Amino acid sequence: FLHNIAVIGAGMAGLSAARALQQAGRNVQIFDKGRRPGGRMSSRHNDHGLFDLGAQYFTVRDPEFAQFITAFEQQGSVARWPGIMARQIDGQWQAQPPEHPRYSGMPSMAALTDALSEPMKVHQQVRITSMTRTGSTWTLEDQKEQQWSGFDHVIVAIPAPQAALLLKGISTSLRPQTNMSPCWSTWVRFRGALDMPSGIENWHGALLESSPVLRWAGRNQTRPGQHEGERLTLLANDDWSDKHLEDAADQVADRMIKAFQDCYPAPLPAIDACGAHRWRYAQPCQTPENTPGYLIEKPTQLSLCGDWCIDGRVEAAWLSGSRLAQALCGQ
Ligand code: FAD
Repeated sequence: FLHNIAVIGAGMAGLSAARALQQAGRNVQIFDKGRRPGGRMSSRHNDHGLFDLGAQYFTVRDPEFAQFITAFEQQGSVARWPGIMARQIDGQWQAQPPEHPRYSGMPSMAALTDALSEPMKVHQQVRITSMTRTGSTWTLEDQKEQQWSGFDHVIVAIPAPQAALLLKGISTSLRPQTNMSPCWSTWVRFRGALDMPSGIENWHGALLESSPVLRWAGRNQTRPGQHEGERLTLLANDDWSDKHLEDAADQVADRMIKAFQDCYPAPLPAIDACGAHRWRYAQPCQTPENTPGYLIEKPTQLSLCGDWCIDGRVEAAWLSGSRLAQALCGQ
């Protein structure tokens, strides 16, 4: 019986696994290097407002995920983002009817991971640097050389390249070999409202397909539970992010805003403040074949989960963690 379980990573996958295991009576401790849980769903709150710089919204297709989301919708940390979507294609802007309903945390994506982590023990600002198995238990060591011991099982719920680094030197057949593409994300607060092109008045989010730099623009103030101030998030495309990975954040922000001006069919209002955030591991480039959505090694009591085990979406991260927890409860 696995009683004491460590989860490394408090993103959607780690939290999903931890929550299910805790509900099944296991003693779970979560470790995350960030200041708050959420990983790529975390939001930034600064003097200029609230900005989502990672996941912009999520879709719900799987019935179990739908059930999970309904509970948080009722509790008020998630809501449908009616999100009037636009698409810029061949230089033209047009309305884009949504294929699936889009959801957002309310008032920002982090509200969901905050609510999910709330009843659990998350050790924040603890970066696990090594792991050792002695006898039948695991000991973790963090960046301050503090040791955390006595775990029957360890779940590594971090992006594949970071997991590969952590598993280096451990005798295991688990190989997180997935590459992940980077993404630069820029936030910008304007002094006035954006002019709206006709045909897509009051757009909330836009897929930018003919910009050489950008792939997405989202207006944060249109999220459920938010109202004031013109606050944009711009996401750069994979190629541009890769090419400019080591550039300074303020230069990146300037270039991304200029790229938006180049593709937006109206002059932009004056800028109040802006900045950029680099996601070094934003989206999986491929996913492992023939896995149930997680990787597990029973002899060493070690497992891996994360969006990269299925595909680069919030729902996939949740499913990966949840399926792993079901498998562990069956042990
Ligand atoms: P993560 O969220 O990356 O969580 C991993 C956690 O592990 C992090 O909190 C990190 O701090 C922690 N960690 C890493 N190493 C260590 C260590 N050694 N010790 C301790 N902690 C560690 N998905 C959608 O569905 N819709 C979208 O619109 C969308 N847009 C996106 C836009 C961007 C810019 C990005 C970056 C992602 C987007 N995604 C989107 C993808 C979505 O965010 C991810 O699929 C999902 O959040 C991944 O969750 P995860 O738990 O697998 O990993």
